[in-house]
Amino acid sequence: MLAISSLRVVFNSYRALLAGLLSAGLFVFSMSPSAAQPKKSAAEPLRVVASFSILGDMVSEIGGEHVALSTIVGPGGDAHTFEPAPKDVLALANAQVLVLNGLDFEGWLPRLIKASGFKGQQILASDRVKVRLLNSDDQVVLGAGDHAHDADHGHDHDSDHAHDHANANANASGHDHNHAHDHDKAHDHAHDHAHSHAAGDVDPHAWQDLSNGIIYATNIAEGLSRADPANSASYRSRADIYIKRMQKLDAEIKAVLKDIPKDRRTVITTHDAFGYFAQAYGIRFISVAGFSSAAEPSAKDLALIIDNAKKHHVSGVFFENISSNKIMDQIARETGAKRGGTLYSDALASPGEPAGTYLGMFSWNAGRLIRTLKP
Ligand SMILES: [Zn+2]
Repeated sequence: MLAISSLRVVFNSYRALLAGLLSAGLFVFSMSPSAAQPKKSAAEPLRVVASFSILGDMVSEIGGEHVALSTIVGPGGDAHTFEPAPKDVLALANAQVLVLNGLDFEGWLPRLIKASGFKGQQILASDRVKVRLLNSDDQVVLGAGDHAHDADHGHDHDSDHAHDHANANANASGHDHNHAHDHDKAHDHAHDHAHSHAAGDVDPHAWQDLSNGIIYATNIAEGLSRADPANSASYRSRADIYIKRMQKLDAEIKAVLKDIPKDRRTVITTHDAFGYFAQAYGIRFISVAGFSSAAEPSAKDLALIIDNAKKHHVSGVFFENISSNKIMDQIARETGAKRGGTLYSDALASPGEPAGTYLGMFSWNAGRLIRTLKP
């Protein structure tokens, strides 16, 4: 039931998008192949669209002045629940390169690609990342009933699900064209679950480990070089410098987080964004799965969450920049865990703020963790 109604919402919003394009007289333009594949003169910067703010920052680090960047889901935006607007269709219609995360993160992207007529090069940033799956034991599952991830879980998942995605990811190397089709298949699935994911799903938040950030940067530099060979030396040398900064920060964060005692290493956040961080830096993240920004959990759900938080000896309660945090306050109150402030999960802070860049976000998150968890 829920799956069908959420599909209808998706379909309606897609129709609304097309209707908007038609009324704005953009439809013909957007479907025109010549508009989708504009030629680039040597002096013009490469027109690149990044799907969300973290990739946008990486592209501007690596692309520098050779890239004219447009980012679809900007700072503070939630890419899980994002709905494209006509301006996004236009941006993509005009782009030569699209940089995407993949791993089912941008469920709205296949339709946006279709609507824009984009035929340029796709750079799959997560290509060659070792993909992890979401773990059931790190979610505090809300009470049965109206939560999509419980009720509808069975119908569109099978044991091959993760396997398919791993293959899709591997095969996409250098053949980005296939990728859109894989995403198409995954699209409905992403929307069924809205913000919450379920155990066994591919975890898309690979950027939350700096080792993966290095893979992303390598893929972006390779992709930009393919699209714009004249400036490939610049892309590669900027990526090298960027990667050295990532390596340095990675070592620093590991050194700092080492000081947190074993019994103070469990924290709770709103959604399952920190699995890769947990794996890399040895902090256990429990998430309140199924809690969407709009939902108010029942008293029973809340009691269950608080019981689980106590059982797992949660030492810190963290807000996320893309989620509603009302419930987190109550969890902190009832468990006595420290409030750790905001962690940046799926989006950067505004430019100029400490977490306004990918590296800044990592420093910030590590700083909040050490401040909250160190005795
Ligand atoms: Zn997320």
